[in-house]
Amino acid sequence: MKNIEKLKNIYVKASEFMRPPPILKASAWCETILKVTDGPLSGQPLKLFSFQKEMIDAIHEEDKKAIVFKTSAQLGKTQILNGILFYQMKHSGNNIGVLQSNVRELGMWISGKVKPALEQTPVLAELVTDKSDKNAVNNQSQIQLRSGQFIYCMSLTSPSHLRGKTLQTILLDEVDAAQESEEGDPILLATQRATTFGDEAIICVSSTPTTKHGAINKQFEQSDQRYFYVPCPHCNHSQIMKWDQVLKNMEWKVVQGKKIPDVDTAKYCCVECGEQWSEGDRIRAVSKGKFIAHNPGSPIAGFQLSRLYSPLANIRQIAMDYSEAYQSFSLATFYNTSLGETFDDLNADIDVSDLEKLTSPVSVNNIPDDVLFLVAGADQQKDRLENLLLGVGEKALYILDHRSFFDFDCERADSKAYTEMINFLKSDFRTVSGKKVPILFANLDSGNGRATQAVYRNCNRWNKLHAIKGSSSLNAPTIPIQPTRTGGQELYVLGVSQLKFKAQEIINRNLNGSAPMKLEISNTVPDDFFEQLTAEEMKRTATGIKWVLKKGQERNEASDCFNYALAGMELVLKGVKSNWGRLRTYKQKINADVLPEVETPPERDTATQEQLKPIATKQPPEPTRNILKADRPSARRPQKTGWITRR
Ligand SMILES: [Zn+2]
Repeated sequence: MKNIEKLKNIYVKASEFMRPPPILKASAWCETILKVTDGPLSGQPLKLFSFQKEMIDAIHEEDKKAIVFKTSAQLGKTQILNGILFYQMKHSGNNIGVLQSNVRELGMWISGKVKPALEQTPVLAELVTDKSDKNAVNNQSQIQLRSGQFIYCMSLTSPSHLRGKTLQTILLDEVDAAQESEEGDPILLATQRATTFGDEAIICVSSTPTTKHGAINKQFEQSDQRYFYVPCPHCNHSQIMKWDQVLKNMEWKVVQGKKIPDVDTAKYCCVECGEQWSEGDRIRAVSKGKFIAHNPGSPIAGFQLSRLYSPLANIRQIAMDYSEAYQSFSLATFYNTSLGETFDDLNADIDVSDLEKLTSPVSVNNIPDDVLFLVAGADQQKDRLENLLLGVGEKALYILDHRSFFDFDCERADSKAYTEMINFLKSDFRTVSGKKVPILFANLDSGNGRATQAVYRNCNRWNKLHAIKGSSSLNAPTIPIQPTRTGGQELYVLGVSQLKFKAQEIINRNLNGSAPMKLEISNTVPDDFFEQLTAEEMKRTATGIKWVLKKGQERNEASDCFNYALAGMELVLKGVKSNWGRLRTYKQKINADVLPEVETPPERDTATQEQLKPIATKQPPEPTRNILKADRPSARRPQKTGWITRR
């Protein structure tokens, strides 16, 4: 063999080692270097789902000026956003901005999702400046890279922090959860920060949707609207998985007189051939799926995705979420967080005149026998407290009463309005057949800064009265997991925006006949009650969406009070883990144990509480003891007490 031949052979053999590594798409790069940071697979190489790959790889589409993710929860969205972030950290060479809905979310994301990945992944760890490097500034608001690049972490509520920064990559997460900001529209401000980079800029906007006016829905409407199509394992028909295909094939059952979905019959059936898909069929179909744009000309890449596609969920779980949402008037939440869709049919505007159809002769003096407990919601105004009393039965809600307690200055703690309201709420409420009905939760708004202390002091006078405050976040849950404590004061931060949706859903579904619980409104309520109840609407403003008073409307206290009462109901139901049997037993118990009239002190509450204690001369029935045991605060954790026995 001639030397030249030998050389040629050597060259051919060596060439595979001399070629630069192939340029990997972002998703492939992520799978090569990233590991799972939490859960049972922690430490294993990251394996992305088919849809996650397409979503991450959208950053390579240079003709798109932004990427929009309108998705449900539990789709592994963190992996998508982190994938983009880490890829850009390694490859872009320029600054990156990350915006989360608020500072708390931001902190959780950095410490829970970003830092573990940086520590676990050598390729990323070597990009980040050392903790001992005194010239580098690494904290909750920025991470400095050795290359001189910065990752700036900001809250969507303070988008002005974007000013003066030049960013090539901007990730905005949960944009619909951000409260409206005086500082302007974060998406617009973010886009301006990246203009220098032209086609190279990566702007990624992500959120579970709220309403059709919400930021993410608006962004998606402008996008090329990609939906995920999967092939039927039986007929190969390519389809978008729609919840309807589960809903219309699910059976319903009657439980305690209520018609509810039978989740054991939940299954996805092909829209074309009608065949049922097993869970395995579904996951295989998803692995073969691809996004198809419905509006292909748009310069924005938009992705919509629901949990129906998620290998992390199954159809029965989703049906259980539906069943719960159906029964608790939170279908809007189900559509948003499980389906990644807006839900506007039931949030349609309500015609005030239609509300008359819901009126009935119920009142504080005419409480239906099926009412198991009462809750109240009160609003504090300068010259009055307005209170709504809600009767709750297993199959019905009754707005029994709405009244005001006037005083010249309700910002003062010693205003007589508080005493009058508390005395009213402590009344001996009885049903038409004379049965006592307990009041279990009353909420009083402390949101007016000038009256906060007055509200706190009065709430501390009676254990059933709780200070509440509305959350400014649009998708804050209706009730908190537990009350917060500010300066020793117990405070319930309520998701008022979600409560408003819920109230609208209750009213709308009662008007169109699809409600699992009927709503009756006392004809004793003030004249403008119905107008107030429907006074607000969701509006898009220059900087976001918010609830605003409709044109010509001045007051909405009735609506606020109804929402606070609904929150009270939810807190009670949460307290008994939605076990209505316990509430029935409790009502029976207080009626079985009525003390002789003469012994009933004017302070009814004390009387009720006394009756709850085992009375030496009388053997209380067993079930009540169980309630007491279950709810009695333990000595160890006095701050987390049940609602029935709280003192
Ligand atoms: Zn089929």
